[in-house]
Amino acid sequence: MIRCPRFLLFLGVVFALATSSTYGSRPPNIILIVADDLGYGDLGSYGAKGYSTPHLDALAEKGVRFTHFAVAQAVCSASRAAFLTGCYPNRLGIHGALSPKALHGLNPQETTLAELLRAQGYATGMAGKWHLGSGPEFSPLQQGFDQWFGIPYSNDMWPHHPEAPPGTYPPLPLFENDRVVDAALSPEDQIQLTTRFTEAAVSFITQQQKRPFFFYLAHPMPHVPLFVSEKFRGKSARGLYGDVIMELDWSVGEIVKTVKALGLERDTLIIFTSDNGPWLSYGTHAGSAGAFREGKGTSWEGGLRVPCIMAWPDTLPEGVVNDRFFMSIDLLPTIAGKLNAPRPSLAIDGRDVWPLLLNEPEARNPHEAYGVWYAQNELQAVISGDGRWKLVLPHTYRTLGGKPGGDRGKPVKYTNSQVNQPQLFDLRQEPAETTSLASTQPQVVQQLTVLADAFRQDLGDSLTQIKGQGNRPAGRKAAPGSP
Ligand code: MG
Repeated sequence: MIRCPRFLLFLGVVFALATSSTYGSRPPNIILIVADDLGYGDLGSYGAKGYSTPHLDALAEKGVRFTHFAVAQAVCSASRAAFLTGCYPNRLGIHGALSPKALHGLNPQETTLAELLRAQGYATGMAGKWHLGSGPEFSPLQQGFDQWFGIPYSNDMWPHHPEAPPGTYPPLPLFENDRVVDAALSPEDQIQLTTRFTEAAVSFITQQQKRPFFFYLAHPMPHVPLFVSEKFRGKSARGLYGDVIMELDWSVGEIVKTVKALGLERDTLIIFTSDNGPWLSYGTHAGSAGAFREGKGTSWEGGLRVPCIMAWPDTLPEGVVNDRFFMSIDLLPTIAGKLNAPRPSLAIDGRDVWPLLLNEPEARNPHEAYGVWYAQNELQAVISGDGRWKLVLPHTYRTLGGKPGGDRGKPVKYTNSQVNQPQLFDLRQEPAETTSLASTQPQVVQQLTVLADAFRQDLGDSLTQIKGQGNRPAGRKAAPGSP
């Protein structure tokens, strides 16, 4: 008689152990929203003027607003490769922004966040801009996504480009999975993209009641050419750029509303960020890097540092501004760590920074330093793991040199400027990177120089013509005519 309840208790414990994980019965849903070319200063909570972003501000109030989050390279394809693989993009042979005619893309051998999560039983979906290789062999469906609705590369890679001679770009197609649903998007079509990709996200989320899900919403906006639907046209005092950001904010609001209505708020990690800083040569059609130097296409803070908001009620702190430093390469291993999921089989660069996300006072960034490469494998900077010191190495960078940017979607030309000697910046004291401390802090310069040499041995550096040992090849399309 007494054995029966004990047996039931035993069964109960076994059942509880079998079904419990860190999160109770199911792992968290993950929604990663990446805006394109959105600058550090472009959201209300990061100081934007002329329009408001109430949904993103509310998300920050419900979660964490990071003030020292940086992308691995301040340009589209390279940055996206880092988000999705946890690797420096040059480790994967991905540089710059891939042209529609490129014969390479993210190697299918690499493990993406979508593949990692799918192996954990997640449903995986994506809407928006891919830009990690065009053609069926590089499609998101080959990289761990169950479904995709979007464009294969940037929305300016089309025949309407204001600067490109006719014939430079083919028509811009819209895909639903591997099927072209519109062979040539028109300006009228682009007006609807933010709305349609948002609807795709909402529809996907609504359909996933049984399994945890990962949704990657990669908005093509506010990359030029800017387009906004009637809902927001003329709504901001900042012109079309502000209207576009207001629509992105609306999009976030729709997603948050959906998650809430499904009762999934506490089971869902929402991350909102950008792939790189503002494309300053576009002037009134570009965003703001806030107080930071330069923008997209450079290794200065205005290129690397982007807004990052994360919310996961009851798991991440609420209403916190977090100034701890980490980079986009750390997202994949941090999520893997939280799920106890196996790491990718090939070496990755990111580390699990979960304690930093929680802002634990004793937490230390596990990286001794981060390397910042740009262009064709130029090691342009090294940043200490604690985010305080940045050694900028001699290199050439593009700048407007104080000139205003362009108007009405037409860029002005950049000029080149040189860093001739290594420059050292204390990003805590002087994040604007105007005053080099290299002569007064020779020991720090020395330490970071040693780390720069280690990065060169591992991943190479075209500025010093060092070939790396750890680079892996990008995926290549089969040569025409080969089997
Ligand atoms: Mg971009």
